[in-house]
Amino acid sequence: MRQEAILEIVKKSGPITGEQIAEKLSSSKATLRPDLAILTMSGLLGARPRVGYFFSGKNPFFIVAEKLRSILVGDVKSVPVVVGEKCSVYDAAVTMFIEDAGTLFVVRNGGILEGVISRKDFLKITMGGHDIHKLPVGVVMTRMPNIIVTTPEEPVWLAARKLISHEVDALPVVRKTVVSNADEGLEVVGRLSKTNITRLFVEIGEEA
Ligand code: ADP
Repeated sequence: MRQEAILEIVKKSGPITGEQIAEKLSSSKATLRPDLAILTMSGLLGARPRVGYFFSGKNPFFIVAEKLRSILVGDVKSVPVVVGEKCSVYDAAVTMFIEDAGTLFVVRNGGILEGVISRKDFLKITMGGHDIHKLPVGVVMTRMPNIIVTTPEEPVWLAARKLISHEVDALPVVRKTVVSNADEGLEVVGRLSKTNITRLFVEIGEEA
């Protein structure tokens, strides 16, 4: 690839001007311009007027990691799908289908996190022979304080690490809030799922 060839030349002979690089590649400066632009924009090469191009010392993996670390949960999160604690297991399962979300969050006071329900929680309860029209989701959900959460300000790779280490499909994105006197809670402001991470992965790939 031409960009790799340019990188090798600059590593060996930098600082070096665009004309000199073109000469070494038996090409013209105009032809190389887009490649040089990509290499400088991506941070692999530095450029100084009247000096030329020089190798930045960063390897491509470092640059990808740097970019990844700058992306926050708030940049990629989805809208949360929530139900109230008294909602029946049946209605919650219908909501899961309609909203096409694998994880529902159970909230009180319109938005304070109480619990999480996943597909497996529904499977488990239907196998128990309960009347799912009468049973409230509060009985089946995983409950606070045992919920792994993230915030809009958290780097997305750290949230992804939580998904892996806790073996869950989604995290509620929360913000601390005071509900009333002495009642503090976590307001649900989003949902971060494995799909968000996969989508981001694809977007980074498409950018390259
Ligand atoms: P699945 O049902 O597809 O296996 P998960 O792996 O996300 O989905 O859920 C496994 C269990 O972990 C379920 O009992 C669920 O209630 C619970 N759970 C899901 N998300 C979280 C979370 N963010 N924090 C704590 N527990 C969770």
